[in-house]
Amino acid sequence: MGIFTYADFVNNFPNRYIDRTQFFKINQLNQNSSEVQIVGEIVDFKSVKQKRGSRLVATFVDETGRIELVWFRGAKWIKENIKINTPYVIFGKTNWFNGMFSMPHPEMELVSEYKKSLRTAMQPVYPSTEKLNNKGFTNRMMQKIMQTLFVEINGKFQETLSNELIKDLSLLSKSEAMFNIHFPKSQELLTKAQQRLKFEELFFIQLQLIRKRLIRKNKIKGFVFEKIGDNFNIFYKKHLPFDLTNAQKKVLKEIRKDLGSAAQMNRLLQGDVGSGKTIVAVLSILIALDNDFQATLIAPTEILAIQHYNAIAELLQEMDVTVKLLTGSTKISERRIIHETLESGELNILIGTHAVFEDKVKFNNLGLVIIDEQHRFGVAQRAKMWMKNKYPPHILVMTATPIPRTLAMSVYGDLDISVIDELPPGRKVIKTIHRYDSNRLGVFKFLKEEIAKSRQVYIVYPLIEESKKLDYKDLMDGYESIVREFPLPKYQVSIVHGRMKSTDKDYEMQRFVKGETQIMVATTVIEVGVNVPNASVMIIESAERFGLSQLHQLRGRVGRGADQSYCILMSSFKLSSDAKTRLQTMVETNDGFKIAEVDLKLRGPGDLMGTQQSGILNLKIADIVKDSNILQKARNVAMDILEKDPNLSSNENRNIYNTYIQIHKNKAIWANIS
Ligand code: ADP
Ligand code: MG
Repeated sequence: MGIFTYADFVNNFPNRYIDRTQFFKINQLNQNSSEVQIVGEIVDFKSVKQKRGSRLVATFVDETGRIELVWFRGAKWIKENIKINTPYVIFGKTNWFNGMFSMPHPEMELVSEYKKSLRTAMQPVYPSTEKLNNKGFTNRMMQKIMQTLFVEINGKFQETLSNELIKDLSLLSKSEAMFNIHFPKSQELLTKAQQRLKFEELFFIQLQLIRKRLIRKNKIKGFVFEKIGDNFNIFYKKHLPFDLTNAQKKVLKEIRKDLGSAAQMNRLLQGDVGSGKTIVAVLSILIALDNDFQATLIAPTEILAIQHYNAIAELLQEMDVTVKLLTGSTKISERRIIHETLESGELNILIGTHAVFEDKVKFNNLGLVIIDEQHRFGVAQRAKMWMKNKYPPHILVMTATPIPRTLAMSVYGDLDISVIDELPPGRKVIKTIHRYDSNRLGVFKFLKEEIAKSRQVYIVYPLIEESKKLDYKDLMDGYESIVREFPLPKYQVSIVHGRMKSTDKDYEMQRFVKGETQIMVATTVIEVGVNVPNASVMIIESAERFGLSQLHQLRGRVGRGADQSYCILMSSFKLSSDAKTRLQTMVETNDGFKIAEVDLKLRGPGDLMGTQQSGILNLKIADIVKDSNILQKARNVAMDILEKDPNLSSNENRNIYNTYIQIHKNKAIWANIS
């Protein structure tokens, strides 16, 4: 269980408590009683043969009746150590069996001992494993060891927080909290103990994250982009195709401030699908160019890289800048030109896939790296990027996967975060509808009406790794039925999936982009970033099999033009309760942040990006979803303290400093490369 020392042991907190103030009489037992406590005596033991070996059965009586106690193991020890005709307190689960109640493997304690022992109303139940239990390392045993330990140390624990903090926040002291988490004197004290320990846990994580950020800001020098020059100004005045939204202006200001300071930018740009992150990227790139630096934008897939390249090349066509595309399928001759012009500094902007990370790709003076949808890239890859130059380039990570505030605070607490929280004007809210497979004909009819208005349609099938073959068959079956329902020459249908060659994929994609085909049948390869404003209907097949964030991403493919858009979630009748919640959430809201909150509640943080490295999965007592208030407080307090005392060197903060050092002495600092 990861317990090696006494310290580990006392920090292994109970995961629930049982009320031991209540005693049952045997005639009060009923078939629904769960864990009960009874006072009585054993009057006899007998051995009962069973298929393998035998079980030990004791008759236990009080003044109201009798039950059987049963042991399947350890009979010898029980017979030697448990006395008959002597009052015991027994505790355990009762079963109704053969017309009688029985209690297997009861916890037993002499009434005389029971009265003496350190005991509280609420009895702790510790996390354990079946294996430990079977070896006799029971909950009772853990309680005993814990009691002994508390006696040994006189119930005293080293305080980890400062007296001021404890007073200001009315927290229990460490010793009080530790005592009451293991042996709560009352529900109220248990709650206070939990709050104190949750606060402490989150506080030290926040302290570390904020400290790292301060260190980065102070020590990690970055290129200073001091001027805003012609590239930016001319583009802004003459070629910007629309007015920026206030949210876009706000984040651009934040980015400009970072780039102009002497520290390296390390910023996460969050913005829901369609919120207009691309233009922010372009303007940031132009600032880099104005300061004689190169910039690169890296996308997770080839389709996306091509799309970014096309969009950005078009935006910048009137400008005196060079833009190139580098992906896995770039021809060798073209590659050579890119390598050369990149090294000479002639090439200003490189857009590409992870091909950009290859060692052969050398920049003359890379000043800005923009990464789109960063969760698809490993930290290690980014580290490579980082080392490429004598100074690290500024880094802007763009993501359309909204991260709930609480999670962002814990996982990305050492990054700066900008949020585009407003969509460009004139967008109609996408109407989302849930339909069962049996309504398919109605859905087809609707599609025909939309296509008659010269709209385009996506139909997406799930493709989930483990069941690839089956999914592939579903996709092809679906495609065939669509082609039957929407026949040539009136209708043209494209198909894109992961098994196609990338040239074929691009060809099909381009036909759809150009409006030559009305229907795009696809797997989730189109999940991120694809932009076809005329596409106004998104059909998601077997929607119950998709996660919430994926559904939201897919829906974001429509609603990009001026027309009313629709998202139709198709599912079978059989839905798990989680699946129902997911579909219902999609129907109810378009707000990516709300969706992310629901997602976090349904799945826990484990599946969300970045959490693996963050340590928030190893929390002992706090829960970042349920304890978001405590998290917020812990963060504020940590910021406050570090602002006044960045190195925790004051007398007042001695406890905090000592604890901090102890927690972090052995940990690799992976987060330097966030
Ligand atoms: P995302 O944040 O999902 O990457 P994009 O940058 O692709 O979004 O922008 C989505 C669409 O909105 C594009 O067609 C883009 O031209 C358009 N757009 C972006 N910003 C604005 C704006 N301020 N006003 C009008 N349209 C905008
Ligand atoms: Mg985008």
